[in-house]
Amino acid sequence: MKTVCTTCPYCGVGCGVIASSDGTIKGDPDHPANFGRLCSKGSALGETIGLEGRLLAPKVLGHDASWDNALDLVATKFSKAIRDYGPDSVAFYGSGQLLTEDYYVANKLMKGYFGSANIDTNSRLCMASSVAGHKRAFGTDTVPGTYEDLEQADLIVLVGSNLAWCHPVLFQRIAAAKAARPNMRVINIDPRITATSDLADLHLQVRADSDVALFNGLLAHLADAGKCDDDYVTRHVNGYTQALDAARQSNASDTGLSDAELQQFYAMWAATEKVVTVYSQGVNQSTSGTDKVNAIINCHLATGRIGKPGMGPFSATGQPNAMGGREVGGLANMLAAHLDIENPDHRDALQAAWNSPTMCTTAGLKAVDLFQACANGQIKALWVMSTNPAVSLPDADGVAEAIRNVPFTVVSDIMARTDTGDLADVLLPAAGWGEKNGTVTNSERRVSRQRAFLPAPGQARPDWQIISGVAQRMGFDGFDYESPEEIFKEYAALTALSQKFAKDLDLTDLADADYDGLGPVQWPVGGTDRFFANGGFFHADGKAKMLPLAAPALETGKFRLNTGRIRDQWHTMTRTGKSAKLGAHLAEPYVEMHPADAATLGVSAAELVRLDQKGIFRVLISENIAAGTLFAPLHWTRQTSSAGTVNSAVNVGTDPFSGQPALKSADVSAEKF
Ligand code: SF4
Repeated sequence: MKTVCTTCPYCGVGCGVIASSDGTIKGDPDHPANFGRLCSKGSALGETIGLEGRLLAPKVLGHDASWDNALDLVATKFSKAIRDYGPDSVAFYGSGQLLTEDYYVANKLMKGYFGSANIDTNSRLCMASSVAGHKRAFGTDTVPGTYEDLEQADLIVLVGSNLAWCHPVLFQRIAAAKAARPNMRVINIDPRITATSDLADLHLQVRADSDVALFNGLLAHLADAGKCDDDYVTRHVNGYTQALDAARQSNASDTGLSDAELQQFYAMWAATEKVVTVYSQGVNQSTSGTDKVNAIINCHLATGRIGKPGMGPFSATGQPNAMGGREVGGLANMLAAHLDIENPDHRDALQAAWNSPTMCTTAGLKAVDLFQACANGQIKALWVMSTNPAVSLPDADGVAEAIRNVPFTVVSDIMARTDTGDLADVLLPAAGWGEKNGTVTNSERRVSRQRAFLPAPGQARPDWQIISGVAQRMGFDGFDYESPEEIFKEYAALTALSQKFAKDLDLTDLADADYDGLGPVQWPVGGTDRFFANGGFFHADGKAKMLPLAAPALETGKFRLNTGRIRDQWHTMTRTGKSAKLGAHLAEPYVEMHPADAATLGVSAAELVRLDQKGIFRVLISENIAAGTLFAPLHWTRQTSSAGTVNSAVNVGTDPFSGQPALKSADVSAEKF
């Protein structure tokens, strides 16, 4: 029996796991993310490692093929598309489930060898607004604080986050801290009352997308109450006056909260030095997502409550490696080592380090645009890695049609059948969690190892090896990797460029480290735990930027549909769906609806409604959701439910800065079925 210390493959908390080949799973007591805790999903990992439904051999047009034949075909098709139509005629779409080493190799190939930045990932659905907000405020995509801050704070403000279900171990850490220090306060800001609200001293049931108005109001209150830190602002922040002027234009009544609720929130925030504002998808997945992030950061910058123990804005990452992916340039608008595509010095330095034949010069297509380019015929060859966009993107049916329209599509996945895999010309079997080695980075910048404790089944291979195999067949040097260790060390050494260009990322000490024995380590490795207590921002003048933000006009009309996770399932259920224990929590898709709306539609509990003429869902009537809004889980697919994917009924806009789709507030119609 083999036993390893590894990392949970689900949410961005990044819990340490002790896993054995007999399926025994325990929390790692020495891992600083969880100190032995695991949530229901992590605890059930042993039930999800069976081989039912796995893709065990390469397939070309539905028939088994050898690896050589499959990879030769992929290399030929991508080479031909680039030769005939140019590098922007091809695209990769990856996943926050990929390990850093996989992500790194895919980005190197696309950006440094194809010469296109048409590589985006499902992190666009997850963290892109936080990335854009961080970069606007700090000059880099930097998470200033650590998990310890959540325990050291006297006030935790949770915004757009059902932490109890979506980041359960972080929630448990806050709950334990609150039990130990009863004076600690928690405020939950969410249009829904959720399991997270149970811990809250104050729940603010705001109107969806009114966060900018709320935090603009807070900024004005902080200034009026004399709570801004003039010294910190003078020395370290630009844009204070403009941001405050804009904030004063906002109308906090847009939030739908009473004056008493607003004043209570503002007074608690103003009176508490040690405050951490934790935000997640309710902030990010919005047409004003980036502005929401900056509205929160503005308040922390104005008060200097950032980068000190128990203080700061904190982005709770959705996926296990959305952060590690960002480090190696895992979005279409960034380069590895936190370098900037639009900066020619950064591009030249990276190209020199890679000794690569070319380098992309402009940002590539972001997720929603990428699939629109598939629909309009621009993309001639597409490679989808470790994700299921035909289910998870908005307008899911349109995305499926767009993929069908691509002349040549490759899907590498662990599963033989997914909604996206069924559209592929070539299916490549990928090794899954427990079967491959690599690293991930969690929400507090902590790099942890994932370690193999099971053999890769059938002919499955790790993604980095699959991508490298295609790169070599396309005639590119620089992809003769023998192991993920080689890739990690190349990447770690490359972060010297981040230091050269005065950026935040530093893993250079790990370039010679013992990869097999690597324990969880935060970046900057060997440097500070927290950023920005004494300034040191990454804009050219070393200062942060407060942004002048206008609150968006809020839509009214049809129902506002909020999609999200439930406690015991993960994404499209390919793994968690194997556990009977997890399936017992909520066994089928549903739509949560306020009793007043149910009465208007004439539906009773457990009857059916149809959303936007597409999916048919059972109704869960609940006072926890505001009238005029709906909630539906995102997990079920066309293959796992006759209701299909809820994203078939979701057609939303994107944030203008981040390109993140507004999956929390789709306008839909609902009718009794
Ligand atoms: Fe895994 Fe997240 Fe649960 Fe930790 S909290 S065990 S990382 S799903």
